[in-house]
Amino acid sequence: MNVVDIVGEKTAEMTLPNACLTCGGAVQLRVSPDGVRTYCATCHTISKATLGVQEGGLVVAQDVKARA
Ligand SMILES: [Zn+2]
Repeated sequence: MNVVDIVGEKTAEMTLPNACLTCGGAVQLRVSPDGVRTYCATCHTISKATLGVQEGGLVVAQDVKARA
């Protein structure tokens, strides 16, 4: 299971191992009132993501419009 860090009253972060669509590295997921962002510390890719809930649990859909 991923551990969610509650950064502030309205912001939460968690790390998704091997979730980077570019390099396969660990991605930091941040949920804030501005939306959901993912950041890869390995290749520095920032992208938007969408959180959804399906039968199996929480689902993160990464938006890949920032393709190099
Ligand atoms: Zn990456």
